[in-house]
Amino acid sequence: MEGAPLFLVFLGAPGAGKGTQARLLSEKLGIPQVSTGDIFRENLNKGTKLGLLAKGYMEKGELVPDEITVAMVKERLSRPDCARGAILDGFPRTIAQAEALDRILAEKGASLTAVPYIKVSEEVLLARLSGRWICRNCGAVYHMIYNPPKVPGICDICGGELYQREDDKPEVAKNRLKVYFEQTAPLIEYYKRRGLLVEVNGEQSIEKVQEDLEAIIESHDCP
Ligand code: ADP
Ligand code: ADP
Ligand code: ZN
Repeated sequence: MEGAPLFLVFLGAPGAGKGTQARLLSEKLGIPQVSTGDIFRENLNKGTKLGLLAKGYMEKGELVPDEITVAMVKERLSRPDCARGAILDGFPRTIAQAEALDRILAEKGASLTAVPYIKVSEEVLLARLSGRWICRNCGAVYHMIYNPPKVPGICDICGGELYQREDDKPEVAKNRLKVYFEQTAPLIEYYKRRGLLVEVNGEQSIEKVQEDLEAIIESHDCP
């Protein structure tokens, strides 16, 4: 398998720890983290056309339509830094997106290596979302109780200002979980059927979850 690209999908509900884990693993493996949520938020901040298209959906905790999201991911995966693979975090979120991803990878002569599913119970998810703080500058993710920064309100890595996402407020967060159970949870079965799903206990420490993910990747014979 020398040189085979490594494409991973991190599956899990909002707050499961996908972004936290994808960022750590991306640094270790030297392949990019492709987070659709992060790309939408960047576009929103910059006031691009894509950002304006996504805004209303994101504010309500609804999914941005598949066509828009798929086109964005297709463009992102076509860039040279994805030649050796990528860690997809927050995509796919519907069966139609999963089918589109299969086609995008097939066109590149690639396929998914594995789909780690980070499993966390619903009560824990809400507690994680309500305490999540993000660096405005570098996107690093903290939790005010479970993973606090050394200095409150300031990013350990870059000194940037930390903020709470509007859509992490309880009303919108609850809707995001509902949308997850209705539209995204069916992907668990979709990837199980293809023998790609590997369940990880997401209620362990950040370090232990990372170890489990590394073990999964090693067992899949990666670059
Ligand atoms: P997702 O990308 O799946 O929505 P995040 O990676 O943003 O999830 O994590 C959600 C929140 O939970 C963040 O505040 C993060 O610091 C915290 N968190 C992530 N992993 C763990 C963990 N294993 N234990 C406790 N808190 C965690
Ligand atoms: P979390 O990991 O906490 O669920 P994300 O940052 O992944 O949040 O997503 C934030 C919002 O961006 C979603 O609620 C949705 O509006 C939009 N979004 C992100 N990824 C997708 C996707 N694959 N399909 C449709 N909408 C998406
Ligand atoms: Zn930072």
